[in-house]
Amino acid sequence: MPILTNHAIEATPPNFLQAEVGLLQQTGGQQVLWAGRAATALQVAYEMATLRRPEITAPEVIVPAMMCATAANSAILAGLTPRFADVGAETGLISLETVQERFTQNTVAVVAIHLLGNIVAMDALRQWCAEKNLLLIEDPTQALGATFTDGRYVGSVGDVVVYSFNRTKIIDVGNGVLVANTSESAALLQHTLAEKSFAPSQLSPDETAQLALSYRNLHHSLVGLLRMRALSPEDISAGFMRVQPAFLPMYTRAANPAIDLNAAWEHLPQTLAHRLKLANLYAERLQGGAWTLLTEFQQSGVCWRFSLLLDDAAQQVAFSEAVRRDGFHVSNLYWPVNQFFRPQDSCPGADSFGRRIVNLWVDLSVDEEYVERCCDSLLRHQYA
Ligand SMILES: *Cc1c(COP(=O)(O)O)cnc(C)c1O
Repeated sequence: MPILTNHAIEATPPNFLQAEVGLLQQTGGQQVLWAGRAATALQVAYEMATLRRPEITAPEVIVPAMMCATAANSAILAGLTPRFADVGAETGLISLETVQERFTQNTVAVVAIHLLGNIVAMDALRQWCAEKNLLLIEDPTQALGATFTDGRYVGSVGDVVVYSFNRTKIIDVGNGVLVANTSESAALLQHTLAEKSFAPSQLSPDETAQLALSYRNLHHSLVGLLRMRALSPEDISAGFMRVQPAFLPMYTRAANPAIDLNAAWEHLPQTLAHRLKLANLYAERLQGGAWTLLTEFQQSGVCWRFSLLLDDAAQQVAFSEAVRRDGFHVSNLYWPVNQFFRPQDSCPGADSFGRRIVNLWVDLSVDEEYVERCCDSLLRHQYA
């Protein structure tokens, strides 16, 4: 099983082997490619998607409108045009119907993201993608270890699956991975690695960190503007696209074999139990507030962030700030990605979701006592 390094494709290092075996068991996968980021894994998946459809000269990939910008940025890096599927206003998830709305004769792939531990209905998508000859790319990064209602693991349905183990993720020690789930996609991966070169960025870690910070700052600033509609979406999209090339080199990253993924994998059951316990505590304490709670983690078994959708979207910023001032982590920066890249792919569900969502922490940096106090703060400020 290979690893993409700065020099070549090499054998998986011993530090990754247990995690690799575990991932292959969960997905029923055939082949693994380790990389520095899920972004790099996505880039490889996109190259696979274009190589298997050589007759399509202007390939497009359908990605969810609700997520970080990574899936779209990696698509651009691989020469594909990202198209944005709307998500349910109450779920944040794509559906077969919203994906079908973006289908064209140029579509080569679909990316399904199990957002925040909520699970996309994959089987209908799987069947439709097979009918249309599209590569189905599944991303369970935010639902690592979760199961569908019938007990299968998430990550077991896509043709290829990508995971991030970088900062803030469920396993956060570093690196990303691509799993080829079928013998066809495993052969396609081999073919792609032979045909294409994935020379990782030669930027120093300091340069990469500075670029990533600049990019995040730019993104956050644009979210602030879009929230107020101070600029038209077209203006923002055009300006954002012009500065894109400056940031794209940070997306191709070699795996770091010094990282001990085995230990993190071994610890995964405890990590997930901790998250579930805290998420259940929020769900119990926050019932009946001025919001809708996202509780699908109770079916999937995995929570990445505990999320609520405020009844009153106009309160999103003031409410988040009030809870932050009380000393708690709050994020509300999941903004519809179509508005940066392609506003004409209208996504009203993502717009509603992005304006109402408030994310709360359940990772190992917080405990039950923190959650109790955070809930007190949320309840106190709910009609801010
Ligand atoms: C963070 C994230 C990514 C990107 O991961 P990197 O390893 O930082 O490239 C991709 N998909 C999802 C769902 C994520 O949460």
